[in-house]
Amino acid sequence: MNIVMGSLSHESNSFNPKTMELSDFSPVYGDDVFARLAEGGPSPLQGIYKVITSFGAKALPTIFARATPGGLVSLEAYQAMKGGFLQELRKHQDIAGVCLHLHGSMVVEKLGDAEGDLLTEVRKIVGDSIPIVTSLDMHATITATMMEKADAFVGFRTAPHVDTMETGEKAARLLLDSLTKGYRLTMCAVGLPLLVSGEMSESAKPPMVSLIEGLEKLDQKPKILSSSLLLGFPWVDVRYNQGSALVVTKDDPALAQTEAIKLAKEFWSKLGEFRFTTEAYPFAECLALALKVEKGPVCLADCGDNPGAGGSQNLVYPLQVMLEQNLENTLFGAIADEVAYEYCLKQELGSSFELTFGRLTTAPDSLGITVTAKLKQIGLLGQMPAVVVGVGGIDVVISKDRIMMLDPKDLEVLGLKPRDYRILVLKSGYLDPKYEAIASYGLLALTPGFTNQDFTALNYQQIRRPMHPLDQGFHYDPSEYILPSRNREGAKK
Ligand SMILES: [Zn+2]
Repeated sequence: MNIVMGSLSHESNSFNPKTMELSDFSPVYGDDVFARLAEGGPSPLQGIYKVITSFGAKALPTIFARATPGGLVSLEAYQAMKGGFLQELRKHQDIAGVCLHLHGSMVVEKLGDAEGDLLTEVRKIVGDSIPIVTSLDMHATITATMMEKADAFVGFRTAPHVDTMETGEKAARLLLDSLTKGYRLTMCAVGLPLLVSGEMSESAKPPMVSLIEGLEKLDQKPKILSSSLLLGFPWVDVRYNQGSALVVTKDDPALAQTEAIKLAKEFWSKLGEFRFTTEAYPFAECLALALKVEKGPVCLADCGDNPGAGGSQNLVYPLQVMLEQNLENTLFGAIADEVAYEYCLKQELGSSFELTFGRLTTAPDSLGITVTAKLKQIGLLGQMPAVVVGVGGIDVVISKDRIMMLDPKDLEVLGLKPRDYRILVLKSGYLDPKYEAIASYGLLALTPGFTNQDFTALNYQQIRRPMHPLDQGFHYDPSEYILPSRNREGAKK
């Protein structure tokens, strides 16, 4: 049995004007996918591959491409990757099923919904009778087109995402079980008109923890194959932005709809319980609190400029505040600024010089900050070329490009001792578990930027209204938000 597999994923922030290009994705195609899987860590595609082979089926690789969250994907980059993917897909014969991993919130300039477009093309090639199952990020935005073209979606259940491989496995198992046992996959998704950030919806904390437990229970019911809460991605101004409650059933579209509506209602009933899962204050207040904590390192997430949600990662407003306080033993970073990075490379290690870097605001004409900097380290932040400069008592990491701050070991590679700092101000949203593990205390600093937690500060023009929390207290009737689906009752079998 031949199963096509592939993965193309990106979380696109429409407020960040810098588009994502092909080089940001480093795509591989065909058999090169196997080599990429072998060298990479756990991923949904890794899980998909594992299950396909465990069923004794043949995995037919197409594409593996992903990039750090950022601005919209350029049309050129998207078309190149889509072209490469479809070319591989067309090479394969006797396809029994298609299992993909897509993020679900990839947006292409001038085109919009990338996943809807891709699934449309895949459906055209494989035809109507071949099942397509896709694993998705928890922050996926389900669109009508996606629903009409695919047979089943399975979302991550953890944020931070630590179940990526397991979710890929679940998706592949769903597909292969349906193929080997011969039943039809049916699903229904109900939209949730809300914007919610990951910082308010960590899966281990209320209200998500009980909602996720609810999914586990729902999955035990007869004919329920999978259930997901896809929270959408708030920092994208597109008409179809929303979260969704989604249920996959064994050949029972009516049951999928009933359960998806129930799930959506349950979610909506908890709307008032969504709040920051970490203590959150404006930056200056966080700093004042951090200074009262004796043991370090206190980790402050500069969450308005979080590369993990598509921030530009070059806003130096927090540094300006820190410099007014004459801080010692503090780290700030990383600031992605290739020009400043290259300039530092031309200086001598240990020397002091005037350096301008970053930007003070998100305004297109914003200037950077100019300071006297001492070059302390040149090396790699994990795998990203970076330098460390001392600015007063603050060590500032300047990287060549954007990089998510996921692991303190990346700082060690750069010659730093993250545990020895009193305060770490990180370009991050909710702290990654690896930073949580070393933090004496964690705080969410509500800062400006393209990932501003205050949605009212962002200029949404396209999204549908009403939309929580921009609009408060409106009546929500899930039956008005049912998305069309491919295998609903009456649709062609
Ligand atoms: Zn996510």
